[in-house]
Amino acid sequence: MRHPETTVTNKKPINIHSVEELTCGNTFGTFFGVPQPVFDRVWQELSSPKKNSVAYVSMEIGADPDIFHPVQDFLKEKKYTKSTDPNIQKILDSYLQGPRKIPNYSGGLGVLAGDTLKSFADTHIPVIAVSLLYREGYFSQLVDSRVGQIDQATNWSPEKTPTLFQLQDPENPGQPLEITVPFFNEYDHPTEAKAHVWMKMEVSEQLDYFVPEFLLDYSIPSSPPWVREAGLRLYNAKSAIMKANQRRMLGSGILPLTEALGLTPGTIHLNEQHGVTVTLHLILRHLEKTLGKEYRSTMRDEDIMAAAREVAKHIVYTIHTPVKAGHDRFARSLYTGISHATCHHILNLLASDPDSPHEYNFTAFAMRVNRAINSVSRLHRDVTRKQFPDVADKIKAITNGVHHLTWISEARAELFDRTEELADWRNDPGVFARMNLPDEPFFRRQLQQTWLHDNEVLIQYVNNMLSDHRTQMDSTWIDPPNYLSHLPPEDASLHPGVFTVGFARRFSTYKRADLIFDDIPALADILLKKNWRINFLFAGKAHPQDEPGKSVLKLILDNQKELYERSNGLAQLIFIPGYDMRIAKMMVSGVHTWLNSPKRPLEASGTSGMKAAMNGVPNLSVMDGWWVEGYHEGKTGWKFGYEGPLNADSLSEHPDTLLYAEDSQSFYQLLPKVLELFYSHPDEYMQIAVNNLRLNVPLFNTHRMAAEYVRKYDLELPDETENRIKNFQKLYQSESSDPPEPSEYSAS
Ligand SMILES: *Cc1c(COP(=O)(O)O)cnc(C)c1O
Repeated sequence: MRHPETTVTNKKPINIHSVEELTCGNTFGTFFGVPQPVFDRVWQELSSPKKNSVAYVSMEIGADPDIFHPVQDFLKEKKYTKSTDPNIQKILDSYLQGPRKIPNYSGGLGVLAGDTLKSFADTHIPVIAVSLLYREGYFSQLVDSRVGQIDQATNWSPEKTPTLFQLQDPENPGQPLEITVPFFNEYDHPTEAKAHVWMKMEVSEQLDYFVPEFLLDYSIPSSPPWVREAGLRLYNAKSAIMKANQRRMLGSGILPLTEALGLTPGTIHLNEQHGVTVTLHLILRHLEKTLGKEYRSTMRDEDIMAAAREVAKHIVYTIHTPVKAGHDRFARSLYTGISHATCHHILNLLASDPDSPHEYNFTAFAMRVNRAINSVSRLHRDVTRKQFPDVADKIKAITNGVHHLTWISEARAELFDRTEELADWRNDPGVFARMNLPDEPFFRRQLQQTWLHDNEVLIQYVNNMLSDHRTQMDSTWIDPPNYLSHLPPEDASLHPGVFTVGFARRFSTYKRADLIFDDIPALADILLKKNWRINFLFAGKAHPQDEPGKSVLKLILDNQKELYERSNGLAQLIFIPGYDMRIAKMMVSGVHTWLNSPKRPLEASGTSGMKAAMNGVPNLSVMDGWWVEGYHEGKTGWKFGYEGPLNADSLSEHPDTLLYAEDSQSFYQLLPKVLELFYSHPDEYMQIAVNNLRLNVPLFNTHRMAAEYVRKYDLELPDETENRIKNFQKLYQSESSDPPEPSEYSAS
């Protein structure tokens, strides 16, 4: 084991000797991030006639370059900040100083997509991603203590974001590439929607591979106004038709995009069913190919089913939630207005829903036409099988992961870099499983130092925020979202080292953000008995149309004062507005435990807890989602709440079925044990952190997850890549042979 004075770094040297070497391009433009030979090799793989690549389709992609930035790191490390070429100097300046947020995500689904693509890049899997570009983002969250959440358009500009490149039209150099996406109406007339295309490159850690993300920008003057509007904001749900159109803009844009670029993905991976209209287009094409131009008048049901079977061979589908609101259904009458008779014929056969005959169920459609169906944890697999019994055998588990290089804090990463036994941790998260430290107590102390550092950074951030809010109070109409901002400054700050609990996720009712405040007097008593101090840090957004979700957020604000007063100031409950990836990273590494209190089994996987585990931070969680697999009694963290059999009520979000009383009591029984361990047995607490590195980092990372997904694709890969994938696969098999617990299956 090396001691900190003898700094070594395990980062591999990169063979690039000037900034100019990082410019690359083709007829679609000039880009920055990988050397030209790398660019050519990847583009060639993506356009090969062997169709040896994958299109990963996702409504959202969260990959803010302010928390993972291999190109920027490289430039800074090598001090490559100057170029004699003024054009390159311009790129360089903006690369080093430009805005580094791309607000094209709402939460877990998008961040998972981003993490997955980064791991595809790191492991050299030929993939493109397709998504939309939202000029008003998802929304920006202001929080007022009287009103609750206030949502506003996000102020950002892709033109000014240095990691985004607008593709150029090869025929008209200097002009943006414009693709045409035909939408139909009931009279069979195509409306031509137009989109510009933006590319972000997910560059591998070694700058030797990349995954291009193509974001379709429909909010341009040549598109009809209703298309422009539907494209402005992610999950714009002002009306059902807008929602249906946004889904179409994703799914129906895929083939025009890949054709315009000459790319040849042989497999389409649908991340949720949002882009499933691509399946409809593929079936139409197949029918035309087999039956000829007049197929629309000659086709029979059998022809459609045969075409669907062919198309299915090229589609891999991942479902992410058992919650009904996450499944897409559209009234048939609505869909009549936006598609033609042939589409209806196909949808009648493939998107019907016996429970709801007046709607098309696009989740069911995605379930029916595919080569593989994946769920996102073992428990979620079992639940999904019950929800879709017709395809139960086909539903398999690939447990989610997170991109370890994105989520491990800088301070921890530096420690791992200088720990000889962890050499190669950047390339292989499996090294933590084999970690054999001759001086483990020394490593533990080092890890404790990094934790202390990250906790200080987080607490400082919160204190700065509180003091900013206090000054803003006088100058704006916003009433700050924290009770502490109303107290005299000397009482109104947090202290590092105080036990800090983090909770941050979308505010959906099933996530029960307010669960632990169900009985505030009970919670306060626990603290008063032993004079234990505690910080609760909360963050997250509620979808603008989700009124119940917004009420839960408001309840968190409403609880602050009572909790503070009842506990004599021992408990401080803080809300951090504007949750994003940067805040997430600061929180998961700076808190002492990560709280997860959903109603089991509605959290299909959850990923923020994995981000905490990557930093050694223990989870305090209901036995749901990934935690069923990551919890090791007494070793990695704690569990609470209902674990009994599942029945019809289990999937309901009705307030009467949410088990508040039962699960909060279980939390109050557990909390004193956790506080006791933290304050009185810090060495044991640190051992739990080390256990998380050893037991959970090797499993819940996207390198392993990507390796499991590759087996669902139809890809020929070079030996070097194959070997790496085999190694990652050995780390964990999500689809284990463990028989399901009999207790899980009572009649529903
Ligand atoms: C990780 C992450 C999420 C998802 O967290 P869950 O635990 O899956 O709910 C949401 N938002 C942001 C910004 C994240 O980084």
